[in-house]
Amino acid sequence: DEPPADSRQPPPPRRPSNPHAMNIVMVGAECAPYSKTGGLGDVMQALPKALAARGHRVMSVAPRYKQYPDAVDTGLRLRLRVFDSDQEVGFFHAFHQGVDHVFVDHPAFHAWADSIYSGSQLDVLFRCALLSKAALEAPWHVACGGAPYGDSNLLFIANDWHTALLPVYLQAHYRDHGKLQFARSLLVLHNTAHQGRAPLDDLQWLEVPERYESLFSLRDPQHGAHMNVLKAGAITAHRIVAVSSKYAEECQTPEGGWGLDDVLRRQAWKLKGVVNGIDLNEWHPAIDAHLSPSEGYCPYDADSLDSGKARCKAALQKELGLPVDPLVPLLAFIGRLDEQKGIDLIAANCEWLMAQGVQLVLLGSGRADLEAALREMEARHPRQCRAYVGFSVSLAHRFTAGADLLLMPSRFEPCGLNQLYAMAYGTPPVVHAVGGLADTVQPFNPYEGTGTGWTFEGAEVEPFRTALGNALLTYSQHPESFRDVQLRGMELDLSWDQAAQQYESVLLAAKYQW
Ligand code: ADP
Repeated sequence: DEPPADSRQPPPPRRPSNPHAMNIVMVGAECAPYSKTGGLGDVMQALPKALAARGHRVMSVAPRYKQYPDAVDTGLRLRLRVFDSDQEVGFFHAFHQGVDHVFVDHPAFHAWADSIYSGSQLDVLFRCALLSKAALEAPWHVACGGAPYGDSNLLFIANDWHTALLPVYLQAHYRDHGKLQFARSLLVLHNTAHQGRAPLDDLQWLEVPERYESLFSLRDPQHGAHMNVLKAGAITAHRIVAVSSKYAEECQTPEGGWGLDDVLRRQAWKLKGVVNGIDLNEWHPAIDAHLSPSEGYCPYDADSLDSGKARCKAALQKELGLPVDPLVPLLAFIGRLDEQKGIDLIAANCEWLMAQGVQLVLLGSGRADLEAALREMEARHPRQCRAYVGFSVSLAHRFTAGADLLLMPSRFEPCGLNQLYAMAYGTPPVVHAVGGLADTVQPFNPYEGTGTGWTFEGAEVEPFRTALGNALLTYSQHPESFRDVQLRGMELDLSWDQAAQQYESVLLAAKYQW
């Protein structure tokens, strides 16, 4: 019998046909909206969708840190050998926007739902080994939409050191034994500052054959001789992507490679930079669900930029308890509180900024001393500065919409997503010209009428202040030029389509590699 009309599920969208269609399994320690601490979570959410939209069959694999209401238990249980012991993992599944979301279930993940990279070094290493091993089995066993992916035409995308064991295990435990012969791996470098470094002895826990052991050993001036997971992953992966072209160059230098530069220089033949896109379903000012009119915010687009942003700015000022003033420049910072993000450069310029009469709003969490620095700025300037210490996706959207300028003085920034979101929202960024910030923010040139933000060279207080001064001058003295900067940012095509196309060509190159 036909089910009643209202209980009928819409048929899953048909995948567009693509002569190069592959089975792609993207694996990461975090995947928004289920789990997120930074940009990796966003990329794990968006890139699989963009690849699926190009006609690939795509699975994302991430830990099940807690219960996700829409993910159902597949009933599948596998026993994996991890850290010299038998571990049972389960697999949960959800299907959204063309992507199979697979979640690996194990008690070790549940304990860290609120701080997913915490625990002892060995705890974290255990979770990473477990995730990589489970992800390699997922395409064989998890029946997505009735049928597992199987092992033909299979491409794994591992992300950062947390899953850099996957390319190693793929080679050492499968391909060397005649299994998964048609599978290849790509390693994406989102941040080479974190490499999974550990004492050499810890290698004993990772079950790698003897002939692979040397791939893990590295000596660098800062850490001495140690075991390095990212190094082994970079050598064994068939291809490597860095998340911007500039970062692909920077990570081959001593300053940007954090000890891995030499290794990456030798792997340069298979390393390519691909800048991230943004998920326009999540980050578009015209359809942003966080800009709720009931709280004074409102969605807007380029045509309604002036009125829309004015309302969002007033709503943000009100929400944060700042004087509601349309004319005062409102500057925002959003990010993980880590040395990387240059929050100290904002703190060092804080008095100067306050003297310019701006409002400064800061959103971040992370290192305790930097959290204290944020609170201190607010305490010193209660009428001009607000610090929200914590993680709030909703506030991140509202800051991006309500602010006039976004500050990103990062010491290094592999890609950076906040500056992309900011440009899409007509909030020009002021950025240190490194990595993805240099690749994506074109400096304002008043003579040529070009540019989407302000940039500065050298992560120092003075150049940052000069860039801030120029941005504020344009904002207050040349509003028409400022508006043009806003509009040029909003007009950029920052979608994932372009990036997904480039990933596709890298994956194809890996697929036809021996
Ligand atoms: P990174 O990956 O180095 O953390 P990115 O700029 O690539 O930096 O991505 C940061 C992502 O994390 C953005 O989506 C940003 O909005 C989000 N984010 C960072 N800190 C916070 C916070 N405290 N609250 C909400 N979102 C945050």
